[in-house]
Amino acid sequence: MAESESNQKTTMKIIHEKAKCIGCGSCVSLCPKYFEMIEAGKAHLKGSQEDSKTEVETLEISDLGCAPEAVEVCPVQIIKIKE
Ligand code: SF4
Repeated sequence: MAESESNQKTTMKIIHEKAKCIGCGSCVSLCPKYFEMIEAGKAHLKGSQEDSKTEVETLEISDLGCAPEAVEVCPVQIIKIKE
């Protein structure tokens, strides 16, 4: 039964430019499903892959969930969604 669900897989990505994060915590408040604060005073995109050079975190998602809210709330506009 779950087969049809997985067939509808869309590849979207959340991108978080962690190096530019000012640690305001807004994304974590609005979207704890995808974001959490880490010790460095920055937000972390949960379960993401991080580019070690650029510190850009990328997470593939099939469900946008609260991600658009995080995009909107970020004061430095470093959260993006690629569809
Ligand atoms: S809203 Fe933007 S600046 Fe604030 S913690 Fe999240 S990613 Fe960092």
